Amino acid sequence: MGALEQTDPEMVKLIRQEQRYQLETLRLIPSENYTSAAVMEAQGSVLTNKYSEGYPGKRYYEGQRYIDKLETVVQERAKALFHMEHANVQPYSGSPANMAVYYALLEPGDTIMGMALPHGGHLTHGWNVSFSARFYRAVQYSVDPKTHLIDYDQLRDLARSERPKIIVAGATAYPRQFDFQAFGDIAREVGAYFMADISHIAGLVVAGAHPDPAPHADVITTTTHKTLRGPRGAMILCRAELADRIDRAVFPALQGGPHNHTTAAIGVALAEAATPAFRDYGQQVVRNAKALAAELLERGFTLISGGTDTHLILIDLTNKGVIAKKAARALDRAGIVCNYNTIPYDPRKPFSPSGIRIGTPSVTSRGMGEEEMRRIGALFSTALDNVEDEEALQRIAAEVREMAEAYPAPGITDRMAVGA
Ligand SMILES: *Cc1c(COP(=O)(O)O)cnc(C)c1O
Repeated sequence: MGALEQTDPEMVKLIRQEQRYQLETLRLIPSENYTSAAVMEAQGSVLTNKYSEGYPGKRYYEGQRYIDKLETVVQERAKALFHMEHANVQPYSGSPANMAVYYALLEPGDTIMGMALPHGGHLTHGWNVSFSARFYRAVQYSVDPKTHLIDYDQLRDLARSERPKIIVAGATAYPRQFDFQAFGDIAREVGAYFMADISHIAGLVVAGAHPDPAPHADVITTTTHKTLRGPRGAMILCRAELADRIDRAVFPALQGGPHNHTTAAIGVALAEAATPAFRDYGQQVVRNAKALAAELLERGFTLISGGTDTHLILIDLTNKGVIAKKAARALDRAGIVCNYNTIPYDPRKPFSPSGIRIGTPSVTSRGMGEEEMRRIGALFSTALDNVEDEEALQRIAAEVREMAEAYPAPGITDRMAVGA
């Protein structure tokens, strides 16, 4: 970071501190990951200097000879990897991507049906503080109170009575697989579009570690920075006949110029995701989550749905006698970074709920396997037995640091010298 060092030492210091933090801790936030050095190089390139409103071959600016080629390459990679006919790789992030889909396919006041936020759904799936419940009529489905699984019979009944124009599958805190075929069948029966928001699980889908929505979905949205291990960004994939409406919703309806540096970095991530090594990665993420879940169950933790078959585990802390918010803070002091989260039918308030959400994408990117997950489960449990004991938490943090440093963090250990 020679140039930055000269220009802005204050910023360098903060970036270095964050870098060290990402290196020395066990990052269990399931939506986070490490991108490769290659992804960061593309993102930190001269492409950030360009304006290119429009799409390849249909720009409002001259000087697009290389950008047109670049964006076309990324579109082709996206279509091939996700088995869809059309790809828009310009959305700035996941939330704007979802907004663009609604803008393209719905009129204000039309009905959206998505999973309620406290049951695992995302804000943009019709939760009341989001634009998606303000501009549209939101109907929310929930999980079964006993099994914590999506109840597809309830889903069908709700769809029949509410007649949504779009049904959304996808979540930020659902530890089990989605039955995309069931969603697709229900959507077709009631004449709704079916949108699969695979932001959390895109990397698993690519790796064959989660069923593929492509045969069933009209539209797929995904962020590119979670299990997919790309830069912060998003994509919309859809059937050919929706392509024009989707493209016009992204630009000019909702966005201006695309972030070409991000587009290029998404392309790099897609190339990485098309390799056999990435397939192994996605499979290992799920094996690791299962191993971590098994360890936690043995240690008396209550897991929502009883376990996981994805990258994500949602823990109900009620029986442990620790407030989740307090637990998450203690874990952070012990070098284990995660977040507090609502659980289905949570008796507590969203700002201090009953759950802790963890996941294995980041630690798996560092090359950790099931044995390390067992160890993480033990450290996690010990930290929660000692939430008031700062010395004990510091001892765990030292052990965590030693463990973390034995596993190279992509994009950090292969790119920059880690300073003070
Ligand atoms: C992360 C996520 C989003 C939003 O992505 P942002 O980039 O944070 O706007 C949308 N939907 C789901 C299911 C997500 O997990």
